This record gives sequence, C-alpha cells and structure tokens, in this order.
Amino acid sequence: MKFIVGNWKMNGTPDKKSAMIRALSETTTENIVILCLPFTLLGGDNKNVTIGAQDISEHENGAYTGDVSGQMISDMGAKYVIVGHSERRFYHHETNETVHAKAAAAIRHKLIPIICVGETLDEHKSNKTFDVVRKMLDVCLPESGEFIVAYEPRWAIGTGKTPTIDEVKKIHQMIYEYLNVHGHTTTPILYGGSVNKTNASDFANIPHVDGLLIGGASLESETFLPIIKSVN
Ligand code: PEP
Repeated sequence: MKFIVGNWKMNGTPDKKSAMIRALSETTTENIVILCLPFTLLGGDNKNVTIGAQDISEHENGAYTGDVSGQMISDMGAKYVIVGHSERRFYHHETNETVHAKAAAAIRHKLIPIICVGETLDEHKSNKTFDVVRKMLDVCLPESGEFIVAYEPRWAIGTGKTPTIDEVKKIHQMIYEYLNVHGHTTTPILYGGSVNKTNASDFANIPHVDGLLIGGASLESETFLPIIKSVN
C-alpha cells in the first residue's frame, strides 16, 4: 500500500475533474490515492475520492486578497494540502519559514500537509542535495501533528529527467533517519519528479519510498491509472 498523489497544478476543468473522479472511483486499489486540485475544483461530488489542495494561506482570515485559508479548504471537503512545492518556492518566492507557517496552518485545520523538499540542479551538481534537504526539514516541519514529506528534486519536475534509483535510495534513507531522530517514526516519505507509468514501480519499490507525487502524468486517466495499478 502506497500513497499515490496527483498534482494537477493549474490545469483542469469541471468536466475533466468529473471524468477523473469517475475513473478513480471505478478503480480498485490498495493504494491511498489523493487528487490535489486547483482551489476552484475542490468542491462538488468527489465520490469518495480523497481530495487535496495545492497551497494554503498561513493566515486564518482577513485582508489577504487572493489567498485561501485552511478553513475554506476544509469546508470544500479536502483532507490534504501540498505545501512548499518547488513551483511555489520559485514563482512565489516562498521560503522555508513560509512553508513551515503553511504546514502549521494546515494542521490547525486538521488538513494533512504534504511538505515538499528538494534541491535545484545547481545544488545537485555541486553535491549539496543532502545539506539543502536537511536544512529544509530543519525549518519546514511542524512541531506536532500528522504530515507527509515529499522529496522532489526541482530539476526533475516536469523535465523528464529523474535521479537514479541509487540517488533516491540514499536521500530517502537520510530523510527517514532524520524523521526518526526527531520522533516522526510513521511519517510517509514520497518521491516526485517525472514519474510515469514506466518508472513508477521502480521508484515506489525503493526502501523508504512510501508513495509518489505525480504532476503531468496525473492529468489523464490513461496515464494516471496505470501508475496506480503498477504500484503496490
Ligand atoms: C509535481 O508537480 O510535483 C511533479 C512531480 O510534476 P511531474 O510529475 O510533472 O514532474
């Protein structure tokens, strides 16, 4: 049993969502499948498919035009929320401190944050991956509450490039040990970055990979369902 999390980013229409919800609700799997949708698609009839958001405000309410609070996300029936995705860090200049505040806001509203960490290509090339990820964990993780960590090398997102199996094995081992030392003994750790139906089971079978975070390949049932079926 693994987590299979789809991240639709800024894609999708009500019709596309309905088609995916129908396809997922007709799929039998032992895996925990979570569909992280744009805010506008969170509500409605989700037919027992577990829904997540892709961002959350660190604030409770008030003069924060365009932001969406944990209460609002929860009111739509979502159970999870991605925080610290590399696209938020890059395009919206979110810092580790912001990610920490957003994870805490999620937990206040009984949402489970999926906290993304990962290095840039330059950091990867200069062997800084472990230091960067450790620093992100130091700052981003909440003090208490349930959460998930997703290791997503920024250079692997949407590029078709992936780390080697051995690289993922080593970084997941480090994250697992880090979490254990800090008392988070049951926190799931996901891998994300150019996962597709061909490589999904290879990544999912690595020790301490408890699931996958999938962007592009989660948009269509033709590419998403084979991933769900290939992983167990
Ligand atoms: C993501 O959006 O988190 C992601 C991993 O995207 P992709 O699968 O398209 O690389």
